[in-house]
Amino acid sequence: MSSSSSLSSSMSSSLFPKRTLGQTHCFCKVDATLKYSSTRRNPGRPFLGCPKYNTEGLPYCKFFKWADGNEEIEFRLQERNNELLRKENELEKMMDDVEKTKTELRKRVDEIEKRELVVSNREKELLEQQTEMRRGRILLRLYWGFLFVVVCYLVLFK
Ligand SMILES: [Zn+2]
Repeated sequence: MSSSSSLSSSMSSSLFPKRTLGQTHCFCKVDATLKYSSTRRNPGRPFLGCPKYNTEGLPYCKFFKWADGNEEIEFRLQERNNELLRKENELEKMMDDVEKTKTELRKRVDEIEKRELVVSNREKELLEQQTEMRRGRILLRLYWGFLFVVVCYLVLFK
């Protein structure tokens, strides 16, 4: 509408929300959304408005600004840029998660290796004990054999 157009343009720059980083905010201090007029006078004309407008249960402000020519393109570029930034952040988070899982996996592998080392040490100890027991049994047999020989000698040559 031309009346709202003149109204919005008559608003001084002090009343107008500041543009931070190229993004236009509405009076609710939320990023304004690009919409298209469906009025007879301005069919399909792009404008910036409150994103909460026409949303049930949400209070909205009366922010309105025609987005002609470069502004529409600028807005779209900004939106795309924001989306890219969001995706970049998501990717960074994902990379962080991947790094975390990597370090966790590494820790687990270390733990498993430690356990394996402990197990192999125990195996070695067990083997040593077994060989010692075998040695002990052989010594015992030798001892009994020697004793037998001594007893036989004593019995036969007394
Ligand atoms: Zn608003």
